[in-house]
Amino acid sequence: MSGYFQELFTGSKSLLVGLGITFKYMLKPVITLQYPRRSVKMTPRFRGHIDLVRDEESGSDKCIVCGMCQKNCPSNCITVAGEKVEGAKKKSLTLYRLDFTRCSLCGICVESCPTGAIDFSKDYNLAGRRREAYVFDLKKRLEEQRR
Ligand code: SF4
Ligand code: SF4
Repeated sequence: MSGYFQELFTGSKSLLVGLGITFKYMLKPVITLQYPRRSVKMTPRFRGHIDLVRDEESGSDKCIVCGMCQKNCPSNCITVAGEKVEGAKKKSLTLYRLDFTRCSLCGICVESCPTGAIDFSKDYNLAGRRREAYVFDLKKRLEEQRR
């Protein structure tokens, strides 16, 4: 009989301890998000794939097609191309291709760019069934965002 009451006491105690923890956390602020129904705001230091930075004055890119990012990338994932328009002082960017399947997010390209033309994006929600889905035309992407 005493074993019965002991078990009853132990069970009730553990129930009350569990309920106490539940009520304690009910009163704390919610820190989880209903992903993917709600999108997440990434922290300033978050590194998504690299992206072209928009020049506020021209509305276009800041790239001078020097090729430093392409040369310095240890994973060989950047292809840059440009052309010189007649009368223009510098080259204009025509292609900025990023193969994100090879990128290690090391940041060397961002650090070596002399004009601050590239930075890490805040994109975290990437999904695709084929490798090609991770090969980005960043010039085209910038133009599409402009529209
Ligand atoms: S972050 Fe590193 S690996 Fe990725 S594109 Fe830039 S230099 Fe290449
Ligand atoms: S993004 Fe920067 S480093 Fe790369 S080609 Fe353009 S100006 Fe040069």
